[in-house]
Amino acid sequence: MKFKRHMKPGLVALCIAALIPASNTQAKKVDTNVHMPADQLKEQIGRYAQVNVSYDESVLSAPEKEALAKLVKVGGVMDEIFLRQVWAGNVDLRKSLVYKMGADAENKMFAKDLYHFFKINFGPWNRLEHNAAFIGNLEKPDGAGYYPEDMTKEEFEKHIADNPGDKDAFQDYFTRIDRNDDGSLKATPYAVAYKEQLAKAAKLMNEAADILTNAENKKMMKGVDYTTLANFLRSRAAAFSSNSYVQSDMDWMDVTNNIIDVTIGPYEVYEDGLFAYKAAFEGFITIRNPSDSKALDGLKSFLPAMERNLPIDDKYKNMNRGTDSPISVVDVVFIGGDSKAGVQTIAFNLPNDETVREAKGSKKVMLKNIARAKYDQILIPIAEKLLDKSQMKHVNFDSYFTNVLMHELAHGLGPGTITLADGTETTVNKALQTLYSPLEECKADIMGLYDKAFLVEQGYITKEELEKSYACFLPGFFRAIRFGVHEAHGRANMIQYNYLLDRGAITLDAKTERYTVHFDKMPEAIKALCHDLCMVQANGDYEAAQAFLDKWGEVPAIVEKQLKSLETIPTDIEPVYTAAKYLED
Ligand code: ZN
Repeated sequence: MKFKRHMKPGLVALCIAALIPASNTQAKKVDTNVHMPADQLKEQIGRYAQVNVSYDESVLSAPEKEALAKLVKVGGVMDEIFLRQVWAGNVDLRKSLVYKMGADAENKMFAKDLYHFFKINFGPWNRLEHNAAFIGNLEKPDGAGYYPEDMTKEEFEKHIADNPGDKDAFQDYFTRIDRNDDGSLKATPYAVAYKEQLAKAAKLMNEAADILTNAENKKMMKGVDYTTLANFLRSRAAAFSSNSYVQSDMDWMDVTNNIIDVTIGPYEVYEDGLFAYKAAFEGFITIRNPSDSKALDGLKSFLPAMERNLPIDDKYKNMNRGTDSPISVVDVVFIGGDSKAGVQTIAFNLPNDETVREAKGSKKVMLKNIARAKYDQILIPIAEKLLDKSQMKHVNFDSYFTNVLMHELAHGLGPGTITLADGTETTVNKALQTLYSPLEECKADIMGLYDKAFLVEQGYITKEELEKSYACFLPGFFRAIRFGVHEAHGRANMIQYNYLLDRGAITLDAKTERYTVHFDKMPEAIKALCHDLCMVQANGDYEAAQAFLDKWGEVPAIVEKQLKSLETIPTDIEPVYTAAKYLED
């Protein structure tokens, strides 16, 4: 699962002209008519603040650097595959856009911007505007490049009804649906569909594994042991031709925390808007900062004590939880493929395969330097607009980032398996259905802050650090609700705001329209809200949960107004990777 798409992008019905023939092999006629004026295009690009993303190369030995360069190239291959997965016509369109940049002398700037925006979106559709086309007239196919463009849901389902033996292959995460010469449908394994690219990636991954485990090289790596990472790289490389991914997902879970860390493969199914069957390729090439890992381990050791400390009756506490989902903190060196398109993720939780999750659990990875870039470009400008000026001195990145970490840890705490009033045993998730996820996100925010106060009592952090966390809470809250306040997730976020305002823990100056966080009142208000949210979960009463959301989830007019005032602040970032230099040679 990925944490970047707060809204499912709905498709805008535009004029439809299917200019691209359905077959994947035929040469294509590309419609490059542009329907966006130059200034508007610039404005759309400007919604992504360009940020240089680099990493601390000094922690790497020479062989590690050599292996890393190979892995960055694998990230580049993931870009190439994903480009094809978004739309079969993308490769030809890219060619004509590149041609335009060279040929169109008088419109060079415009042609450059166009190519730039195409690269951000991995296609001619604006991901921040419900996939509105900015080049050509084609509506973004629901099934992306995973199915023939002219195939309907009905045709797919009819094929399975007529050919039950094809069901597994058709619904498989790792097949592309194509047409036979006679027009009938067939499932092509990714290993065949993207053979050329996958072979290239596999070769690079095997080479990196060899470099990291070579006996001579090991002497230069100061005791760092890459056996488990090499195992993953080799088994993933093998999966690229066998099309069987389970073993390599298992091996990924076994990778021990070394400096270089990677996540490469077909994972998320968001791009498949037709069935959500097909997995998109991506690659996270990262390195781990040893001091971050130490700080995180320190926090994790408090988990059982945090569960005991929850402000609810002991019978609702869940002492069996808390350690089942490992978390790691890394800095991104390069991201390729799915995750690079549009809005950037700051954390992911993988693998998605249920068999692997049951056997090994899942791992959450937090991308610290990406979080830092968003903090600088988005959080700080929001704080500067909305926070009382006297409180700006408390806002700092480390407090913001530990808030995010505590949020993730809090997901592992509190009611999970519950007993309903009628004696039925179930889970919070099943009992609260669609309200589960919004309320769980709200709980994680509030419980994270509640746990931080506990860490002060334990002498693990200082009171000043807690106050900084409180100050960071408000801009973090406004950043989250920018993605929409009226659907369930946005309204659940509003609970925090309304509740804390009600208790006087935050106040709004009517004249300046800026907020002050009252450090003395925060602990009690947060404790009370943490209790209420945990009890909504522990009781598993859907109606009561809905009533709670209705009571506290309203959006005051002033919040609407303030959201409008934030429109000039970038929506997201566009990382420019220092390591992209490795793609060129
Ligand atoms: Zn969360």
